[in-house]
Parts: sequence; structure tokens; C-alpha cells
Amino acid sequence: PSPPSSVIIIGAGVSGLSAAKVLAENGIGDLLILEASDRIGGRIRKEKFGDVSVELGAGWIAGVGGKESNPVWEIAAKLGLRTCFSDYSNARYNIYDRSGKIFPSGIAADSYKKAVDSAIQKLKGLESNYVEDATNRTDFTLTPKTPIELAIDFILHDFEMAEVEPISTYVDFGEREFLVADERGYEYLLYKMAEEFLFTSEGKILDNRLKLNKVVRELQHSRNGVTVRTEDGCVFEADYVILSASIGVLQSDLISFRPPLPRWKTEAIEKCDVMVYTKIFLKFPYKFWPCGPGKEFFIYAHERRGYYTFWQHMENAYPGSNILVVTLTNDESKRVESQSDEETLKEAMVVLRDMFGSDIPDATDILVPRWWNNRFQRCSYSNYPMISNNQVINDIKAPVGRIFFTGEHTSERFNGYVHGGHLAGIDTSKAVLEEMRKDERQKGKQNQNF
Ligand code: FAD
Repeated sequence: PSPPSSVIIIGAGVSGLSAAKVLAENGIGDLLILEASDRIGGRIRKEKFGDVSVELGAGWIAGVGGKESNPVWEIAAKLGLRTCFSDYSNARYNIYDRSGKIFPSGIAADSYKKAVDSAIQKLKGLESNYVEDATNRTDFTLTPKTPIELAIDFILHDFEMAEVEPISTYVDFGEREFLVADERGYEYLLYKMAEEFLFTSEGKILDNRLKLNKVVRELQHSRNGVTVRTEDGCVFEADYVILSASIGVLQSDLISFRPPLPRWKTEAIEKCDVMVYTKIFLKFPYKFWPCGPGKEFFIYAHERRGYYTFWQHMENAYPGSNILVVTLTNDESKRVESQSDEETLKEAMVVLRDMFGSDIPDATDILVPRWWNNRFQRCSYSNYPMISNNQVINDIKAPVGRIFFTGEHTSERFNGYVHGGHLAGIDTSKAVLEEMRKDERQKGKQNQNF
């Protein structure tokens, strides 16, 4: 058996690594990080596609240019990460119908305004009727009927809620968003962060305080400490555990707790919605879509909501890459995850031929991330009911004995984002350090009495 650690951190995504870094900076040398997969980064993950690096998970640094500085933007700037400004505002003027015609800008603007007004009205109604019951959730979607209404409804509710309700990320840090377009990937930030407290050589982490391929299956906890058991039969002991697994994992049965988590905790975990968000990458022999100012994002209006609706070309990020990205969410994500990539490619080609004509070339390659079927994720990010009190998130975040919870889903203001995970990791490790100090004081007192 390994010697006991002061703190075991479960998960080496942004929150776990941020937590570990703060602990290390505060003199906790004997920490241990257990990561289920074979790499660090979690939902920050790049992959080679075509000749470039694409981001399967987080792609944007969201919330830039405001009164406060986004800490992730600061780190990225310091490291010289290559980014590219994303201007979504024109997307609504590039809405294609199924015959390839672009809706006139007047119609698009009108439909958009109506959808925003109606969503605001609906939200106000819900707020005034809202009673102290977070389960009293109502469907926020309007009753859009036509393909253009459905497309706008999808963009508004699955992407841009900011226009309906203020979102702390944009209020605090600013409304701009930058796409990470760097061959080293978004994950470069995390490698650099790890380098500050783990032993590395030639860009590889060689520190045995980070253990990859360690799938935690059981946490046995008592007043004295926590015993962690992994799928491969290893046992680790610690005074404290910081658990950074996603809300999707917490809702699954991957990790069992002995004794079981209290009811207030499991109920809160169940109340948080999980959002699945899938970016499908398609590579072409040449580009056949319009480029130039205001054309980066375009929309396909279909009678099925969310059916290959939101498109982006990668020419701004990587000129000459000939890559398109289409984003699906929730049920459409799950549907596509469960079918073969060939089927998905065929569907996407029908959609593209609707928009751009029958003589466009077939995609030569496709990449479909599967966040929902990944048992170490089971979601893309958390989504708290818009009308809920803070109790749900406070309960999700609250420690149970010596087990502390962190991750983007525990960030009151920035859940769902990389900076949310980063700030949550820092907060949680500070709470653990405080607990350790209390422990020390307690022991000191007992020794005096003795
Ligand atoms: P994770 O990154 O999930 O880290 C948790 C780690 O725990 C993982 O590495 C996992 O493997 C590990 N783990 C899980 N279970 C176990 C176990 N039993 N034992 C051991 N280890 C375990 N955010 C933005 O700011 N901008 C964006 O543009 C953006 N787009 C996104 C697009 C997609 C497709 C996705 C999936 C996410 C996106 N996000 C975006 C959200 C962002 O990626 C997350 O909020 C953030 O990365 C979460 O970090 P985390 O540390 O909380 O969790």
C-alpha cells in the first residue's frame, strides 16, 4: 500500500489541477492526483484532425473585455496562446432554408427580436410565480413552429441565453469570446500549470504524484480519513479527498460512497441538468462555403429543432484547413453518439447539399466526440435550472465529512465554463487548507490538555 497522503485529488481536469497547484503552493507536498483516463485535461482536449489541432471540448475563452479580467484569459495571454475573436452577432443573418436560400435580413431580425422578447416575458412570468421549489421547473422554450423560428429558438436557448438573462461570465468579464486556435491546444494551459508544481521533462509529466488510468470506484470515509479504491484494485489513504468528477459522473454509479452520501446531497446532484454539447468536425478537399466578414457562423433551418442547426467554418482560425464544424446538443447529441460516424457523415452531407447545392464534394473525414457515452464525463457541462435558488448549487458544493467537491458544477457564478472550473478548484483547495488548519489547532489543544 502507498503511504497515506494529506490530500487525494480525483480528476486532472482544470479544477483538479488548479486545486492541486494551490495545495502545493501552500506546502502540501504529499498530495496525490488520481485520473481515470490516460491524460490530463478532462473536458479540455485537443485532437489532430486534418493538419490542425481541433478542440473536442472547451474551445472558447468566454468573457473577455469587461470590467474584470477573466483569469483564464490572463493565463492564456501570458503564455501567448493563439486565439481568434468570434463574432456570433452575424449568425442570424446567415440562416439558410432547405432550398439553400438565405432568409432576408429583415425577416431574420424580426424573428430574432420576437423570440428574445417572448423569452424575456416568459422568464418574467416564471420569476413572479416562482415559489421556493427548485423542482418547479417549466420548459422555457417558446412554441416555435416554422423552421426559422425553431432555428432561432435553438440558438437562443442552447447557445445565447445571455440575451435573455444576464450571465455572470459576460457581466463580470465582458461579452467577447475568443476561439483557441493554437496547435498546442487549450490544454497547453494545463500542462503549463502542472509544470509549476509537478516534475516534468521535455513537456511530459513524470511526477509519481500524478497517477493516470486510475479509475476511482469507491470512497470510504470516516471522521479520521478517506480510503480510495480504484478499479484496478489499488487502495489509497488520505486525510482529505477533493473530488472533481463531473456532475454527469456524480449522477452515474461510477463512484460509490461508504457510508452513502446523505439525502440532501444526492437530491441536489439529481436536480442539476446535464448538458450534452457535440462539435462534429468535417474535412473537405476544398471549401465551397462563403468566407469573408460576417460569414464565419451560419444556420440551417429545418423542421426538426436542433437538426444540424449551428455551423462554423474554420477558415478564420486555420486558413486553408477546409474544415467545417457543426454543433449538436442534448437529444441530437445522444442520437448521433449512438450511430456510426458514416451515418452521421451522410446526414451532414444531405444538410450541406440543401444549403450549398448538389455538386459540393463529400467530406473526406469526420470526427464525432462522444462526451455522453464517456463514462468519465457523462455530460459536457452542468446546467442549473434558471429559476432556482442557490440552495441546489450550495448543496452540490458542500463537503461531506472529509470529501470536498469541486469542478465547474460547483462554481456559483461561472458553472459550465473553464474559468468556472479553475476558480472552483482554487476555492475548494482553500477550504481544505482551512480545515487542515482547524485540525492542527484541535490536535494542538488535545496535546496541551494531555
Ligand atoms: P473535467 O475536465 O471533467 O475534469 C474531471 C476529471 O475527472 C476528468 O479528467 C475525468 O477523467 C476525471 N474523472 C472522472 N471520474 C473519475 C474517477 N472515477 N476516477 C478518477 N478520475 C475521474 N468551457 C468554456 O469555458 N468555453 C467553451 O467553449 C466550452 N465549450 C465546451 C464544449 C464541450 C464539448 C465541452 C465538453 C465542454 C465545454 N466547456 C467550455 C466546459 C469546460 O470544458 C468545462 O467546464 C471544464 O473543462 C470542466 O473542468 P472540470 O475540472 O470541472 O472537469
